[in-house]
Amino acid sequence: MEFIVKTPLNKADVVEVRYDCFCGCKPRAQYQRGADEANFEHCCCGQVHFVGAKAEDRLKAYLAERATTGMDDDVGGYTLHAQQVKAPWGEPVAVAYAVPHHPRKH
Ligand SMILES: [Zn+2]
Ligand SMILES: [Zn+2]
Repeated sequence: MEFIVKTPLNKADVVEVRYDCFCGCKPRAQYQRGADEANFEHCCCGQVHFVGAKAEDRLKAYLAERATTGMDDDVGGYTLHAQQVKAPWGEPVAVAYAVPHHPRKH
């Protein structure tokens, strides 16, 4: 998927990764350089993306946690993807996202 990678104004050590979702939203998540964490946005349609350290593991853990209470039963499962984007400071940053099989209405 095509991600838009930017540094927020006056935050040279932060990268913001967003995309134009098919539902019309513009989900975004930020990652602080060097941090052992990942942030995410879960779009209204059910698509969710994580940005940062161990993004793929954290995405899987998040979805597994939600599955224990059936929160995503309506979307019929996800297809997972992982890729990297290049931060403005030159290092690769992990991005992982899950595409719902039956997206929710915007
Ligand atoms: Zn969406
Ligand atoms: Zn939406």
